[in-house]
Amino acid sequence: MTAVDIPGLLADIATEVEPEIGRGTVADYIPALARVDIRRFGMAVANLDGSVHGVGDWREPFSIQSVSKAFTLALVLSRPDGDRVWRRVGREPSGNPFNSLVQLEYENGIPRNPFINAGALVVTDELGHDGDAAEALLAFLRAESGSDAVSVDAEIAASEAEHANRNLALGYLMASYGNMRQELPDVVEQYIRQCSITMNCAQLARAGLFLARHGVRNDGNRLLTRSQAKRVNAVMLTCGAYDAAGEFAFRVGLPGKSGVGGGILAVVPGRCAIAVWSPGLDARGNSVAGVAALDRFTTVTGWSVF
Ligand code: GLU
Repeated sequence: MTAVDIPGLLADIATEVEPEIGRGTVADYIPALARVDIRRFGMAVANLDGSVHGVGDWREPFSIQSVSKAFTLALVLSRPDGDRVWRRVGREPSGNPFNSLVQLEYENGIPRNPFINAGALVVTDELGHDGDAAEALLAFLRAESGSDAVSVDAEIAASEAEHANRNLALGYLMASYGNMRQELPDVVEQYIRQCSITMNCAQLARAGLFLARHGVRNDGNRLLTRSQAKRVNAVMLTCGAYDAAGEFAFRVGLPGKSGVGGGILAVVPGRCAIAVWSPGLDARGNSVAGVAALDRFTTVTGWSVF
């Protein structure tokens, strides 16, 4: 396929995934997330020139949750000493649930990858040790999306803070192995605000464009080297969809990062960034309609990394 009619394709996809919308369950372990309407569906494609096409609820803000982890990893790596984060976190799929504690104990407090909660806490710890990780992330997302409307949802953050025992346990367990630089609960507090950022599909797709441009931001400045951008995309491909990353690669064939808010950011290197949102989650925590839409997108266009 040479020229792709993106608006037409998005309209087709919205129709085709209609039976999937409303399937699954809305995340309810963060009570404020449980109130979201499961019938929402939005999708946006941001082209390398920054133009964006969308369909459905693509302008409706949602909680990005773990999609934030792709950005915090990129921001840490962009620092002069950024690569040292790899001494503190691995890059292998975990095969365990995202909030699992077990692997930490038999691997000396080193999380398997930056996208399970333990690994994301390490990344947040690195990013926030000389400031505030959530504020650094917010500034970046506002700049890349071109919108100051991107903000932390205080209600979701408060709700998550009331149910943070698991993330605190991960933090304290890693601290017991010497793998926390900042004090707890500060790191968890920053992590919660980072996850509670709300964006819409258009903003999220635009913010992810630097990964499609091999590290170059919307203003033309380079955030990551080409090699670092490859690495972030590689970790997204192998670890970005909880313990269903294999299934995601099988169906979609793109680097992607999902969140329990029902959002997914996917990257077509050299072409575009795609954001999709639908709150109904499958048993592994990935948006049912979101994965179906991305599956359809790459099947029709042939745009995958394979
Ligand atoms: N803030 C959520 C948590 O730590 C993120 C969950 C997710 O999207 O994976 O539980």
